Amino acid sequence: MKRMNNKLHVYTGNGKGKTTAARGLAVRSAGHGRRVLIAQFLKDGRSGELNAFKMLPSVEVYPMKPVNGFVFAMNEEEKRQTEKEQRAQALALRTYIEQSRPELIVLDELNVALSTGMLDRETADALLETALQCGDTVATGRNAPEWLIQRADYVSEICAEKHPFQTEGLKARAGIEY
Ligand code: ATP
Ligand code: MG
Repeated sequence: MKRMNNKLHVYTGNGKGKTTAARGLAVRSAGHGRRVLIAQFLKDGRSGELNAFKMLPSVEVYPMKPVNGFVFAMNEEEKRQTEKEQRAQALALRTYIEQSRPELIVLDELNVALSTGMLDRETADALLETALQCGDTVATGRNAPEWLIQRADYVSEICAEKHPFQTEGLKARAGIEY
């Protein structure tokens, strides 16, 4: 299928700001009246901006099944289960994108789902192809795989030069970290 003129953006690296940058882009597009779809892989879906998006009619947050805890802390059975669910959700999301044809698609933490093996390349590839038929598509998260970086048009790496979790053990704060 033809990829049109839509671009693939990857926000990766170990610094803070990947998800917030993608949300910022969502707001920017919404400001031009574009329909935005946001889907979050591997997260619990409680981040503050998701509530704020309820006030923006052109931004839709796709209801992904929340994942409890970090992949590295899961046992093999939990990993297998999460993998199965993430794949099923990516397939359902692809169908939904085909039908609803959003003009910007944010696939938050897709890079992490791929790098932790919770989503296979083939499924992600098909999802990206479909999304790019509709609009610019953003994939966020640490450790973006090389194939995704090669494929992307915009690649931004955010490096953590300093973070108060490291310097003073500061815990995640509502409204700032989530
Ligand atoms: P944000 O959602 O704030 O834009 P992010 O998407 O770049 O952050 P993730 O890798 O998704 O970062 O991390 C999720 C959580 O960890 C967020 O609460 C984020 O603020 C925090 N975080 C990001 N980078 C670091 C870091 N270097 N050390 C500790 N915590 C971090
Ligand atoms: Mg993030």
